[in-house]
Amino acid sequence: MNITRANAAATKRGPAEYFTGNVWLDEIAAAPNASRVRVLRVTFEPGARTAWHTHPHGQLLHIVVGVGRVQKAGESVVEVSPGDTIWFEPGERHWHGAAANRAMVHLAVHQADEAGCAATWLEHVTDADYAAIRNP
Ligand code: MN
Repeated sequence: MNITRANAAATKRGPAEYFTGNVWLDEIAAAPNASRVRVLRVTFEPGARTAWHTHPHGQLLHIVVGVGRVQKAGESVVEVSPGDTIWFEPGERHWHGAAANRAMVHLAVHQADEAGCAATWLEHVTDADYAAIRNP
């Protein structure tokens, strides 16, 4: 058994290259040995979101706090709430973030590929795309 204490690592700021607005990353699990599973707790301030991206082995999100928005390319922006779990298929182009006026915290679970890559980052989500939600 090994306990990693909450204060073992500092919260990291999501880099502006990959995120719009203020996003905070807390690594929960970079599993040891051969496992490539990664678990992060991600905190998005209101209006903050990822850039468009894909994951080589897909990604599971579990909404913990607040109100969020997710979108798969070619589909509508969807509002998500605490308790909701979202799965993105491998290679599926998508983004995730907070609602315009509410923060959001999710857990993110995904696997890195053999080269250690867990995401391929694309362009930022424009304000117009972010705002294109039917029933916010
Ligand atoms: Mn993702």
